[in-house]
Amino acid sequence: MVNQGIFSILAGNVNMNFSPGSLGRLGVLPRAEFVPTPTSVEEMKNLTAHLAGARMFVKRDDAIGLAMGGNKARQLEFYLGDAIAQSADTILITGAVQSNYVRMAAAAARKMRMDIHIQLEERVSDNDRAYRESGNVLLDRMLGATLYSYPKGEDEAGADARLEDLAADLRRKGRRPYVIHLGLGHPPLGALGYVRAAHELLEQAHAAGLQFDEIVVASGSGHTHAGLLFGLRALGCRVHVTGACVRRSRRPQIERISDHCGRIATILGVPNPVGDFDIALTDDFLAPGYGQLNASTVDAIKLAARTEALLLDPVYTGKAMAAAIDRARAMDREQQLLFVHTGGGPGIFGYAALLNKVL
Ligand SMILES: *Cc1c(COP(=O)(O)O)cnc(C)c1O
Repeated sequence: MVNQGIFSILAGNVNMNFSPGSLGRLGVLPRAEFVPTPTSVEEMKNLTAHLAGARMFVKRDDAIGLAMGGNKARQLEFYLGDAIAQSADTILITGAVQSNYVRMAAAAARKMRMDIHIQLEERVSDNDRAYRESGNVLLDRMLGATLYSYPKGEDEAGADARLEDLAADLRRKGRRPYVIHLGLGHPPLGALGYVRAAHELLEQAHAAGLQFDEIVVASGSGHTHAGLLFGLRALGCRVHVTGACVRRSRRPQIERISDHCGRIATILGVPNPVGDFDIALTDDFLAPGYGQLNASTVDAIKLAARTEALLLDPVYTGKAMAAAIDRARAMDREQQLLFVHTGGGPGIFGYAALLNKVL
């Protein structure tokens, strides 16, 4: 829904001469297509009026149609593309019990006529029935995923190794498994989805005469953040991008984004346009930790719902919105901030007990 009324400011920050050529091999890498683009950019007028800071906009990647949507749809286009290129017939993936990623992987696998095996890690200690039975895990079951449990939620390398064991098992049974890894050390194909999204966003901003001064996005695995930042810089756009830490603190997350950007450059065969100084992150809204709430996040969830009917989850988008609100308040009214809504809707129901205590 790009309507002209909301896009009235000329683009100065955006290099109008951006050329997709600077994205190297992006257009020739295998990609399964299940994200109708562009996703809409909407102005959040009520929230803007309430905060009296920068004009706030939202990119609705939560509204991607596949199985309740979210940022993982764009990421999975490249993993599934690679899987198809390798003639895989089964996708293997690991994640938290309420992982949006594994739910979307199940959906993507089904669309591509593949089987789906999911390893669920125990990451959030204080969990209850809704956490184990509703939200994403319910949808995993509906999509017919084969589920496994992994006890150590903080051990990424261990979770990946277990996934490799499961894959070896499937191979012995004559299947052709494709593993989507969790840990570092693997090509960040998912980030390519957000390199594409950067191009899409610049085209939208250009067409609508928008000039964003700031983009705020959740930073978990870092694929969304790194891909977006890489794509914007490669296309000559210098807009400030802030990642909101949702999984680990700022320092290790900077290293992670830096690592991803180096690997994206290698995959695309272009120079890396992202210097470490350019990686902006806040972990002010992370406490007490992954999947746990703090006062600013609760406020952000309530405010977004009650001003914009925008539904945010407690793990990712609630924290990213808390960061966006903080930034918008510090900016002036002539400036523009874009919040990337990365989805997570089903997680709201998985975290019903936690949310019911604070709403
Ligand atoms: C996974 C996820 C994120 C974080 O994205 P990364 O690419 O892993 O950093 C943010 N929001 C939602 C809803 C997610 O599911």
